[in-house]
Amino acid sequence: MKKINKTNEQWKCELSPLEFHITREGGTEAPFSNKFVNHFENGTYQCVCCRADLFISNHKYNSKTGWPSYNQPINENVLTEIEDKSLGIIRTEIKCSNCDAHLGHVFPDESQKTGRRY
Ligand SMILES: [Zn+2]
Repeated sequence: MKKINKTNEQWKCELSPLEFHITREGGTEAPFSNKFVNHFENGTYQCVCCRADLFISNHKYNSKTGWPSYNQPINENVLTEIEDKSLGIIRTEIKCSNCDAHLGHVFPDESQKTGRRY
């Protein structure tokens, strides 16, 4: 997959201030604020920055956390996992492999057959 490499100034022109903060500065949306939290129609979820396909509705589930949640990505190549030691705990950050957008984190979830919540 081709890797997109744009400057922050370019991303600022293309994204809303919230989208820029989340994806380019590692921000976190307020829980229950995302328009897709309770969206379960058939479809494919894409990166807001580069439109790469990341998740499909078959893998989306209601985790009751307030953030859109999936038990696996569309395939193993679309996400890059990075150890995140901020906040004094070790978490696994996930980024878009195509453009490096911060997407969130992956957590253990025993309620899912994959054992994971993205
Ligand atoms: Zn992307």
